[in-house]
Amino acid sequence: MPTKPRHPALFVGHGSPMNAIEENAFSSCWRQLGKELPVPRAILCVSAHWETSGTKVTSVAQPRTIHDFYAFPPVLYEQRYPAPGSPELAAQVVALLGADNVALDAEWGLDHGTWAVLCHLYPQANIPVIQLSLDRGKSAAGHYALAQRLAPLREDGVLIIGSGNLVHNLGRLRWDADATPYPWATEFDRRAAELISAGDHAALIDYPSLGEAARLAIPTNEHYLPLLYTLAQQQPGEAATFFAAEIVLASISMRGVRIG
Ligand code: ZN
Repeated sequence: MPTKPRHPALFVGHGSPMNAIEENAFSSCWRQLGKELPVPRAILCVSAHWETSGTKVTSVAQPRTIHDFYAFPPVLYEQRYPAPGSPELAAQVVALLGADNVALDAEWGLDHGTWAVLCHLYPQANIPVIQLSLDRGKSAAGHYALAQRLAPLREDGVLIIGSGNLVHNLGRLRWDADATPYPWATEFDRRAAELISAGDHAALIDYPSLGEAARLAIPTNEHYLPLLYTLAQQQPGEAATFFAAEIVLASISMRGVRIG
C-alpha cells in the first residue's frame, strides 16, 4: 500500500527579531524556502520563546501576535501576523501525545520565534498555526521522545518547525557588523552539522558530552531544544539538508535544517 507523502520538517535559526522586518540574507532565504516547500495544511511550531511547566499546545482560533522582546524600534511592535490557529490540530496533538503529556492553552499566541520567521515563509498568513511549548522539566532525551510522537502529522500535511538557534550565546554577542565568529561557535556549528548529516541524534541529544565548545554554544538550552523536535521527525533514509548556515554577531548560528 503506498504511504502518504511526508511533509518536510524544518529547524529555523531565527536570530534577532529584526529579521522580521529586515531585508537580508536570512529573510530572503526563508521567503525562497516558503516558495519551494509544498504548501502545508497547517503549521506546528516549537519556539525557543515559549517555556512552560509541562507541555502545552495553543488552542485558540485566532492567536495574537506576541511582541516578546525589549528596546527594539517601534515599527517592530506594530507587526502583526494574523494567521488563524487550529483548535482541531491542537486536539490532534493531544490525541497523539496523550492528555497526560500535553495540555491545551488558550493564553499564548504566536511569539517572535514563530511569527518573525513565518512572516517570510508564508507572508499571506493564511495557513493555520499552533505552537507547542518547551516543558522546562524535561530532559533533552525526553523532548526528543515526545517529538517523535508528532511524526504522523507529517503524513497529514502539517509542517513541523523547530525555531531556535544552534549556537546562541547572548552574553558573548559582538555588535560590530563584521564580527568574526568565536572559534568555539564555528567549531560547535560544524560539529553539530556533521552529526546531523551523519544522523547521529544520540550525540546531539547528549550535547553536554560534546565538550567546551558545546558548553559555550548552549549556555542555556531553550534555543537548542527546538532542533531536537525537528531531528526527531527524521525517518530512515530521509535526507537532512542545511540552509542559511552562517554565524552572526560572533555567537549566533543561523543554520537551518530541512528534513525531507
Ligand atoms: Zn530567540
